[in-house]
Amino acid sequence: MASISLIKIEEKHLRNPKEFANEDLPSDQQAKFHIIKGRVYCPIEFTQLIVQTLAIKTDCCKSVFSVEGFIIFFKTHRKCICEGNFNRLKVTFACFDAGFSDLF
Ligand SMILES: [Zn+2]
Repeated sequence: MASISLIKIEEKHLRNPKEFANEDLPSDQQAKFHIIKGRVYCPIEFTQLIVQTLAIKTDCCKSVFSVEGFIIFFKTHRKCICEGNFNRLKVTFACFDAGFSDLF
């Protein structure tokens, strides 16, 4: 079952976002960014993710969302964009830890 974690966008992510999709990296360093013309966006609501943005990464496919985008998608689908099923309890705890709780 999939869970989520928080990821703070750093300059290294934006310098070469593709590099983080490499599955040889340790799992906590992997991140699949939605890239349009070299910039990084939330795949759901297309906010640009810039340095210091606190974003959400799903552990099933390592996709990175804006917090708002993740909430929008999760509320409607209850699954990841890769169709991975979430462990709702884990998602809830991760959200409480992050200080947002309007998912349920
Ligand atoms: Zn996924």
